[in-house]
Amino acid sequence: MTLKFLGATGTVTGSKYLLRHGDDQVLVDCGLFQGYKQLRLRNWDAFPVLPAAIRSVVLTHAHLDHSGFLPVLVGAGFRGPVYCTEATRDLSHILLPDSGRLLEEEALYANRHNFSKHKPALPLYSEADALRALEHLVVVPVGHEFSPAPGMTARLQLAGHILGAASVSLRCGGRTILFSGDLGRPHDPIMRPPTPLGACDYLVVESTYGDRRHEPADPRGQLAAVISKTAARGGVTVIPSFAVGRAQELLHEIGQLKRAGAIPAALPVYLNSPMAVDATRLYIKHHEQHRLDERACRELGQVAHIVNSVEESMALNRRQTPMVIIAASGMATGGRVLHHLKAFAGDARNTILFAGFQAAGTRGARLLAGETSVKIHGEYYPVRARVEMIGNLSAHADGDETMDWLSHAPAAPRQVFVTHGEPAAADALRRRISEQLGWPCRVPEYLEEVVLE
Ligand SMILES: [Zn+2]
Repeated sequence: MTLKFLGATGTVTGSKYLLRHGDDQVLVDCGLFQGYKQLRLRNWDAFPVLPAAIRSVVLTHAHLDHSGFLPVLVGAGFRGPVYCTEATRDLSHILLPDSGRLLEEEALYANRHNFSKHKPALPLYSEADALRALEHLVVVPVGHEFSPAPGMTARLQLAGHILGAASVSLRCGGRTILFSGDLGRPHDPIMRPPTPLGACDYLVVESTYGDRRHEPADPRGQLAAVISKTAARGGVTVIPSFAVGRAQELLHEIGQLKRAGAIPAALPVYLNSPMAVDATRLYIKHHEQHRLDERACRELGQVAHIVNSVEESMALNRRQTPMVIIAASGMATGGRVLHHLKAFAGDARNTILFAGFQAAGTRGARLLAGETSVKIHGEYYPVRARVEMIGNLSAHADGDETMDWLSHAPAAPRQVFVTHGEPAAADALRRRISEQLGWPCRVPEYLEEVVLE
């Protein structure tokens, strides 16, 4: 059996792992590359294996860096099932078509304003391509065994992080390979903790925050301080956010802050995401996966005005009175938040507040590094607004929390592969696993293929 790393090496994006056993190939995750241009260009490369020859895909969760490449795979001839949890299926029905729509909008915008080197600029895939990909999704119950290929069994176990997120263990030829997927946090305010690590021979573990410790500071206090100071200056707080997951967490926190009087109760909050209503419904449907009761879920829908149309979205940009705008995407790589950044980044009264991990090379990472201008849709805009980051709202376990999850393994794996981290984070976690647990551990390279004895 072999394992080939087709992404999430030296980066947190593009998660794709190909398991080969005899003639059978199974792909674990099918994510988009994001961030640095040289990474994004990989999305356009010929796929390293014939998609038609892949028997099935197993998805750990619905974030696009784990699922957003599916429409390309299906377009290139993949015909098999895509196994996932029910909540991942539900979220993918929201996120994948939206991703196709955004890619189409970006291509259209590039053509209209003539700033692409490609004439005409084409989207990586369309909404229609995404809808076709969704037809391949097959729900498997959490904890139940299924067979992604002859002679292979697999099982999904919830991993916290976001609704539906799971670790996947695959058993084949007497060996078990476990993929952590994105690991949630043990004391997340909304999501439940990850399922404890089970026995495995080989382990592929994420390392997004492998070199960091989440600050003990309470994010609610930080959120209150930023929003109320910005409003007091007469400014607008723009929060780039994943539309599903992080946005609900922000709404929950903002709702609590308003009730507690920590931010002005009358301060308008806008959620600029047509997907929000559907997402909130999913929190009610999949209530067993999180800590909010039904009342709290329903309240999420009442904290913010939902911005549905592009016209409403543009009207917000003309308002220059204090408000909070939450809009996708979370790393400011695309989506409606770009238009808000164009409108509000130039005013020193405003704040751009990031609420999650910013992958290297993304606009979010560059803004946080203090760049004084930001390139959007081919043009530069000055940045005079404050740029801040809420430290402790992460949906990922930090280094200590990951080590704690690992240390409860019933036995040492034969080999650990550390992936899904920038180089420094991956190497820091590798060192800790080698030194503190004494497990054989390495960081694989892009397109490296290893034999699993
Ligand atoms: Zn994720």
